[in-house]
Amino acid sequence: MRIGYGFDSHEFREGIPLKIGGVALAHDKGLGGHSDGDMLLHAITDALLGAVAAPDIGALFPPSDTKWKGADSVVFLREALKRVRDAGYGVANIDASLILAAPKIGPHSMAIRAHVAQLLGVPADCVGLKAKTPEGLNLDNTAIAHVVVLLEKRILKKARKKAKRS
Ligand code: MG
Repeated sequence: MRIGYGFDSHEFREGIPLKIGGVALAHDKGLGGHSDGDMLLHAITDALLGAVAAPDIGALFPPSDTKWKGADSVVFLREALKRVRDAGYGVANIDASLILAAPKIGPHSMAIRAHVAQLLGVPADCVGLKAKTPEGLNLDNTAIAHVVVLLEKRILKKARKKAKRS
């Protein structure tokens, strides 16, 4: 087994769409950054890369490269997942904590979990998602994500799935 941890933060900016976990959320501000600013997908990407000791998201997709300007963060996650699979691992489960003042994540929690699960190829009950407000942090214009991921050897994952079916 392998464990990985990822963190990311982006600042809210007016006039851009908000995407968290690849899901578009109605809000008056979006997340600034070189790509689409999706801090949850960035933290998941770094957790996956860290779990297999691969270079981090900034090294693989440097913000200095204009190619990644406005990029869909799903592209980063797919590359990380490929590296995980190439190393012989699959995702067992992930757990994420989001910290942001608004919008409220609760009403969108199921949609975000389902979408992240689909991207990772795991059932939705293997994606944990909690959201907190930045009490006492003075970071009301920032969205933060912390993610841990557990990987298991694909051969073991397949055997466990097979045992579950029989
Ligand atoms: Mg980022």
